[in-house]
Amino acid sequence: MALLKILLDDNPRLRIKSQKVVKFDRELRKFAEDLIDTMLEANGVGISAIQVGVPKRLIVVDVPEDLEYKGSPAFQAIIVNPEMVKCSGEQIGEEGCLSVPGWYGEVKRYEDITVRGQDIFGKPIKIKLNEFPSRVVQHEMDHLEGIIFTDLVIPNTLHRPKPNEEKQEAKQVAVGSKI
Ligand code: ZN
Repeated sequence: MALLKILLDDNPRLRIKSQKVVKFDRELRKFAEDLIDTMLEANGVGISAIQVGVPKRLIVVDVPEDLEYKGSPAFQAIIVNPEMVKCSGEQIGEEGCLSVPGWYGEVKRYEDITVRGQDIFGKPIKIKLNEFPSRVVQHEMDHLEGIIFTDLVIPNTLHRPKPNEEKQEAKQVAVGSKI
């Protein structure tokens, strides 16, 4: 297991547009494993390769069941070269980011999305998502374009937890609400 260094939002590398993955080799699989370990260690529910400085179109998502809403589905995946092929509806919810530690804000996202891409072996995959997993995938796909959630945040909703909210926020973070 190797933990990678997560770049913070003032790092210009986070603004790079990531490149398509064309080589599905052992090195890519090892990188994906390290990325997953890095995300889990930081209590995240998603991470993109560029957040550790690697401009490849690869995202990892690990959302436990019932995290945001009662009945919200669990979702785990490594998606390489993700592309949104369908989207509809909207949802507004709070987001955070491993590259913007301590800050949260509301972002409007699509509710239903269909994403095509490849698994870590290069096999084509197609995934339909809604609720929180849909939000996480949209957030991570934005990173591949150099977009950070603070670019999209609904004005005046960006905040750090207030001291009396810290306990509650800490609990939220413990279940992995950072994405
Ligand atoms: Zn993020």
